[in-house]
Amino acid sequence: MTIIDWHQRAKEVDFTISHLIDGEQIALTLGDAILKYAPRDGSLLYQLSKGTPAEMERAVASARQAYQDKRWRGLPLHQRQAALRKLGDLVDEQQEIFALYESLDAGKPITQALGEVTMASDMLREAADGADKLFSAYAADGAYCAYQLRKPVGVVGAIIPWNYPLVIAALKIAPALIMGNSLVLKPSEHTALSANYLVSLALEAGIPPGVLNLVHGAGPTVGETLAHHPDVDLLSFTGSTATGKKMQMAAGQSNMKRLLLECGGKSPYIIFDDCPADLDTLAADIVGTAFQNQSQNCMAGSRLLVQDSIKEKLLPKVIEQTKQLIPQDPLDPNSTFGAMIHEAHMNKVLAYIDSGEREGATRIVGGKRVYVDTDAEGSEGFYIEPTIFDNVNPQQKIAQEEIFGPVLSVLTFNTEQEAIALANNTCYGLAAYVATENLGRVQRLSQEINAGTVMFMSTFAPVESFRELGKEGHRESGFGIEGGLMGLMSYSLSTTVHHWT
Ligand code: NAD
Repeated sequence: MTIIDWHQRAKEVDFTISHLIDGEQIALTLGDAILKYAPRDGSLLYQLSKGTPAEMERAVASARQAYQDKRWRGLPLHQRQAALRKLGDLVDEQQEIFALYESLDAGKPITQALGEVTMASDMLREAADGADKLFSAYAADGAYCAYQLRKPVGVVGAIIPWNYPLVIAALKIAPALIMGNSLVLKPSEHTALSANYLVSLALEAGIPPGVLNLVHGAGPTVGETLAHHPDVDLLSFTGSTATGKKMQMAAGQSNMKRLLLECGGKSPYIIFDDCPADLDTLAADIVGTAFQNQSQNCMAGSRLLVQDSIKEKLLPKVIEQTKQLIPQDPLDPNSTFGAMIHEAHMNKVLAYIDSGEREGATRIVGGKRVYVDTDAEGSEGFYIEPTIFDNVNPQQKIAQEEIFGPVLSVLTFNTEQEAIALANNTCYGLAAYVATENLGRVQRLSQEINAGTVMFMSTFAPVESFRELGKEGHRESGFGIEGGLMGLMSYSLSTTVHHWT
C-alpha cells in the first residue's frame, strides 16, 4: 500500500474558489473579504468574498429558468439517475483531494475525512437508486383509479454548515436533483472548498447548466437573500437553532416557502445499571459519540446520564479512554482528534468550560487549549483537550446549551422516570443513546424520549441504515426528514389524481 504524504499533498492544493451560476464559474469579488484561517495551524488558507445579493439573485434566476424550461426535470428519470450516479463515481475518483479539502478546511482527521467522502458519494448514488421506488402507488377499482403524482417542488435553496461540508452538500444535492428540482447551494463561509469542487464536477456528470448553482458568501448577505427570495420554493437549511428560527421568519415574511430544518442538539447518552457487562466497550462508545469530529457534531452525546448504582464502575473507564484522545495534526494519518473550526469558536467553547467551573460543576478531565506541532512555523492551531465535567446540575449552561465542542457533562439519576425527565430537559430533540438490556425499557424509552433518533446498546449503527431510514429533528432541533426514501418525499410535492374512465 502506498503511504500518502498528506503534508506534501497539502502544499500542492488548488485553492481557487468561484461561484457556479448557470454552468459558469464566476470569480469572487474580493473587496470585502472573509479571511479563512486553517484550523490545524492558524495560517491564512484562502480568502472568500461575503458575496452580494445580486450574485444570489442571478443564481436563483438561473435555477428558475432551468426549472421552467424542463432541461432537467423533463429528462426521463433514468437519465437523471445516470447523472447522479456518475457524480458519485467522480467524487470517488477524487477521494483524496476531497478528503484533503475537508481536513484542511474543517480541521478533521484525514482518515475520518476519507470515510466521509465515500459517505457523500454513496448518498449521491443511493438517491438515484431510491427515486424510482416512489412512483408506483395507485389503487384501481373498475372504471375508477387513483394515484399520486410526485412532482418536484421547484427551486430549492440549500444553506449548509461547516462541520460536515461535503456530506451535507451531498445530502441536499442528491434528493433535490433526483426529484427534478433546480438548486442553489450556499456553503458555509468557513468551509468553501469541497462544495466548490463538487459542483465543478456536475457538468461532467451530465447535469445541465443552471440546474445546480453555488454562491459563496456570508449568512447575512447571500444567505439572507436566498432565505427571503420569493422565487425559492423550498429552503433546506442545516445549521444552528438560532439561524433556523431566522429561516422560519424569512419564509413567513416572503412567500411561505417550504422548510426543511436540521438544527442543533444536546443529546443524552443514558446508562442504566442493566446495561451490557462489558463496560470497556460501552465506555469506548460513550467517548466516541461524545468527541467524534471534536464534538462539532449535531448528534454528539454531550450529556452522560448515568444511574447512580453504576457510576462508580463506569466513570473511571470513560475518563481513562477520554485521556487517550490527544489532539493531533489532522494531516497525520494517526490523528483521531483534530482542531476546532476557527479561533472565535474555540474561544466560545473555552468560555463554556469557564462557565461550567463557575456554576459549580467539577472538571475531571481536560479543559484547556493545547498547542500541537505541525509542519508550519509558529503554528497556532485551534485545539482544545477533550473535557469532562462531573456533578453537573441540570440547569447549568453546560447541561442546557449546545456547546459544539469537546465538553461532556455527567449527570446522575436513580429511576427510569428521572432518566426520561433529564433526557427531555432541554429545548432540543435530535438524538438519544441508551444502554440497557431491558426490552420493556427499550419500548418505553423510544416512545417517551423527545428525539428523532434513539439508539440502544451501541451508537455504531451501520451508516447505510442511517442513510436508508433518514432522520429528523424534534422540538428545536428542527423538522422534516432528510435521507432515505422518506427524504426524497421532502424534496417533492404530491398531487393525488382521482380518475374515472
Ligand atoms: P450557523 O447557523 O451559524 O450557519 C449555518 C449556515 O447558515 C451557514 O452557511 C451560514 O452562513 C448561514 N447563515 C448564518 N446566518 C444566516 C442568516 N441570517 N441568513 C441565512 N443564512 C445564514 O451554523 P454553523 O455554526 O455553521 O453550524 C453548526 C450548527 O449546525 C450546530 O448548531 C449544529 O448542531 C447544526 N447542525 C445540525 C445538523 C442536523 O442534522 N441537525 C447537522 C449538522 C450541523
